[in-house]
Order: sequence, then structure tokens, then C-alpha cells
Amino acid sequence: MFLLQDNEDVEEYMQNRDSDKVYALAFGAHPDDVELSCGATLLKIIDEGQTVAVCDLTQGEMGTLGSPKQRRKESDNATRVMGYSERVTLDLGDAKLHHTDAAVEEVIGVIRHFLPEVVFTNPPDERHPDHMKASRLVYDAVFYAGLKKITTTYNGQKQQPHRPRHLLYYMQFKHFDPSIIIDVSSTFERSRQGVLAFGSQFYQEGAGDEPETLIKRKEFLTGLEARSRYLGEQIGTRFGEGFTMPGPVGVSNFSGLFPKNGHMAPGTLQ
Ligand SMILES: [Zn+2]
Repeated sequence: MFLLQDNEDVEEYMQNRDSDKVYALAFGAHPDDVELSCGATLLKIIDEGQTVAVCDLTQGEMGTLGSPKQRRKESDNATRVMGYSERVTLDLGDAKLHHTDAAVEEVIGVIRHFLPEVVFTNPPDERHPDHMKASRLVYDAVFYAGLKKITTTYNGQKQQPHRPRHLLYYMQFKHFDPSIIIDVSSTFERSRQGVLAFGSQFYQEGAGDEPETLIKRKEFLTGLEARSRYLGEQIGTRFGEGFTMPGPVGVSNFSGLFPKNGHMAPGTLQ
């Protein structure tokens, strides 16, 4: 939804909007949240010819493993491997992520910069407190980004209101019953390259005696693959990624969602 005041606004806006506009914008509390949780779906969106940008709300500086500099390099690598149009890393404070007016405004600024139709973010109920806080922060920012009377600037430029149409919560540590499962059979294996770009965080053969964290265990990546296989099984495909949404999914094209010709449709195991 764009609320433009007059022709001058429209002209200025149109000149600026094309440069960084993306179809989907994925937020994560920490660098690697996005790749671990919805990377295969993002690759699928890119394969479908759409653009994707990522915004990490913090630099992950409180993580047990990897320095901020190292994590920055890793997220640059992940961005290249995954083919995102852009990645923005904010500094809202790892383990100090709070729902302040300034934080909401910063996230609104990112939304209005990228003008996405679809936003992904951390789920509302999670093991890591930052994930829950990020979820609320992004939910609020998605809504408030559409309010004309909230004014923001980005790189010194005055921004226009924009409310993304769709918000999806990806699955992290805690399992939930997904509202939708995306068939990611064609992209799951490739998405692992995005995850492995964050080398400091995950198990590597012969990496020595670094401290073991929950996600550093050898079994962690195997567990992730098992979940993706399980979710795929629910819709009759090899791999799947599950999401919930704050509201119901609207369907305008019935036969598009439930096709004939014997194709397996979501939720219709035969
Ligand atoms: Zn995280």
C-alpha cells in the first residue's frame, strides 16, 4: 500500500524505489537464523525469478563461537552463495535486543527501503529470547511501516509508507504445526551451502577442541535435514520448510491451490 501525497512525491519515489525493491525480505535476530530456517524457500523464490534481501537485526556478537569480524565475513559469503540482492546487518544488540521506539523505527526504515511484498521473520515462541523479541519487533514494524504519520529516513532520504502484504514465521528450535509447508526438494541441498558459509558456528571435521554448543554438535545439521525430510513427507515431497502466519491464507485461485492432473497438492496426501 503506497500513500503518496502529490505528483512530486510520486516522481521522487519512483526514481528511488526501483534500485533496492525486492519481492521478499527475510529478517533474523542473528546472522545465520535465516539460512538455517528458510534458506531453501528463499532459494526457491530466487529460482522463480523473484528477488530476496536479508536483514540481520544484530551482529551475533554474543555468540560463543566466532568474532563479529569473522561472522561478518561469513554472512557476506552466505549472501554470495545464496544469491540475495542485498544483506543489511543492523546493530540492535545481540542478547540486548529490546522493543524500543528506536528499534522499531530502524526496522521500519529497512522495510520501506526494500518495499517487500513478503516478509519472513523469527517465530513468536522460541527457545532463544532474542528470537521472540525479533519476532515481535518485526511484526510491529511491518504494521507501522504502513502508517503515513510515522516518518523515517534511510541514508538521509525521506521514506514513503509501505505495508508488506504477507508475514511468515519460519521454524527454528521449537517445532510447531505449520500453516503451510513449502516443497523445497529442488533447493534444500543447495541451501546447505548457505548454512555452511557460517563455518564458525557448525561442526567441521578436524576443527580441534573448540567449545561445543547446541548447534556445533555433529548431529545438529543431520537433525535439520531430518526435520526438512519429515515436513516434506507431510506433503508428499522429499524436503519441506514449514511456516505459520499471523492470519489465514487467502485463496483466490482455487484450482491453482488444488490442481487436477493427479499432482500432489499441499495437505492432500494420496
Ligand atoms: Zn538466532
